[in-house]
Amino acid sequence: VISGLVDDLRSAVGADQVLVDADLRAGYEVDWTGRFRGRAAAVVRPGTTAEVAAVLRACAGHGAAVVPQGGNTGLVGGSVPLAGEVVLSLRRLGGLGEVDPLAGAVTVGAGATLAAVQAHVAPGGLAVGVDLSARDSATIGGMVATNAGGLAFVRHGPMRAQVAGLEAVLGDGRVLSHLGGLAKDNTGYDLVGLLCGSEGTLGVITAVRLRLVPLVGERTAALVGFADVGAAMGAVAGLRRAGVALEAAELMLEDGLAVVAEHLGVPSPVTAPAVLLLEWADPRSTEAVASLDGATAVAVADEPAPRARLWRHREAHTEAVNALGVPHKLDVTLPLTAVPRFVDEVRALVAEASPPSTCVLFGHAADGNLHVNVVGPPPEDDTMDDAVLRLVAERGGSISSEHGIGSAKRRWLHLSRSPTEVAAMRAIKEALDPVGVLNPNVLLP
Ligand SMILES: Cc1cc2nc3c(=O)[nH]c(=O)nc-3n(C[C@H](O)[C@H](O)[C@H](O)COP(=O)(O)OP(=O)(O)OC[C@H]3O[C@@H](n4cnc5c(N)ncnc54)[C@H](O)[C@@H]3O)c2cc1C
Repeated sequence: VISGLVDDLRSAVGADQVLVDADLRAGYEVDWTGRFRGRAAAVVRPGTTAEVAAVLRACAGHGAAVVPQGGNTGLVGGSVPLAGEVVLSLRRLGGLGEVDPLAGAVTVGAGATLAAVQAHVAPGGLAVGVDLSARDSATIGGMVATNAGGLAFVRHGPMRAQVAGLEAVLGDGRVLSHLGGLAKDNTGYDLVGLLCGSEGTLGVITAVRLRLVPLVGERTAALVGFADVGAAMGAVAGLRRAGVALEAAELMLEDGLAVVAEHLGVPSPVTAPAVLLLEWADPRSTEAVASLDGATAVAVADEPAPRARLWRHREAHTEAVNALGVPHKLDVTLPLTAVPRFVDEVRALVAEASPPSTCVLFGHAADGNLHVNVVGPPPEDDTMDDAVLRLVAERGGSISSEHGIGSAKRRWLHLSRSPTEVAAMRAIKEALDPVGVLNPNVLLP
C-alpha cells in the first residue's frame, strides 16, 4: 500500500517533492519543543492548490491519513506525524498577492510566513493584526488553522478576526474557495470562520485573504513592576478603563524573568514579583502609565532599539524554557478575577511534583491567558498536565487559550466542551472529511 501511495504522490507533485529518505523527513517529524516526534509515511510538498487537491485525492484513495504542516511551530503536537501519517507541507505555497489599499487587504498563500507578509504590507502602511515571536517560521495557514492569538490580541483579537476569506481543500480533494473578502457578506454559514481554529481537521488551507490593520510605527514600551499578580492585573484593567489603547499587555513573573536573564546573559531592567510589558502608540497614554497605581519600578523605551531590548525579556521566554529541558506547555485562559489565585495554586502543585520540576509562567495579561510551562516530568508523563488542566476547569477557564488542542490535549477536551458540543464538532468533521484523512489524531477525542 505504501509504495502504491508514494507512486501516486509522485504523480501528484513530481518525484522531487516527495521525501521518503529518513534524513530528509527528519525535520518534519519532530515538533518545535522536541516533546512530540513520530515517523511520516512520506513528506509531500505541493506547490499549487491543484497539487494539494491531487495529494488529498491520492491519500483518500489509499485511506492514508494526512498531517498538514506549515512552519511546524505549533506547540500542541498537531503538526507532526505521531501515527505514521503523510506530512503535507504547505511551505511552498508562499505567494504574496498585491495589497489592496482601498480595502486594506491582501491575499497570500498559506505557506507564507508571518514575517514575509509583514514585510510585504509594511511599505503600504499596513500590518497583520496578529503578531507572535515565531513570526519568521510560523505560516499564515498554520496561524489560521490554530486561530493564533499572540502579542496584539488585546488590540486586534485573534487570527479569525483578521481572515476575510480563504481557500481550502477538503479531504476528498474538492476545493472550497471564498476569497472575495467582502466587508459584509451574510450568505449563510460562516465556513471561513469554521476553518479558523480547525487545526487541519476540516480542510487544508491553501490561501488566505487577510484584513490588514494600520502599521503603528511609533510606539512606547515599558516594563512595570508590581508587588503581586493581582496588582498587575488591576493596573491593566485600570488603563483600559481610562481609555488607553494598549498595543500589548504581557505578564511575566520574577522567577521566569530570572530564567530568561540567565539564558540571554542580560539582567532584566525591572525586577519585581510581577512585571508587565505594556506598549502603546498614543503619546497621551504615557502619563497614564507613568502614574499607575501600585507600580514599584518602571523602564520605558520609545526608540526601536531600546524597545526591542525590553521586548527581548518577554519574547525570549519560550526559547529560555526550551533550553531548560523538554517542556510541558499548557496554554490556558482563566477568568481575569481567578488569575492571581490560579498562579499561586499552580506553583504549589509544581512545588510538590516528583521528579522535582521547574514552573515558568507568563502570559497575555488582558486576556487572562497564561502559559504554564513545566520542565521536569518526562515527555510522556502527563500527570502534571492532568492536574493543571483540571484546576483550570474548576476555576471556570479554558484548557486551550490560543495554541489549540492538537494531540496533546484532546483527552481533556471534555473539560472545556460539553458532550453536545463534541458531538456537533464530530458531525461537522464527518460531513467535511467523510473518509477521515485530515489530521485524524488531533482535536477530537
Ligand atoms: C517561539 C514561539 C512563540 C509562539 N507564540 C505564540 C503566540 O504568541 N500566540 C499563539 O497563538 N501561538 C504562538 N505560538 C504557537 C503557534 O501555534 C504557532 O506559532 C503558529 O500559529 C503555528 O503556525 P505554523 O505555520 O508553524 O503551524 P504548524 O505548527 O505547522 O501547524 C499547527 C497546526 O495547524 C495545522 N496546519 C498548519 N498549516 C495548515 C494549513 N495550511 N491548513 C490546515 N491546517 C494547517 C497543523 O496540522 C497543526 O495542527 C508560538 C510558537 C513558538 C515556537
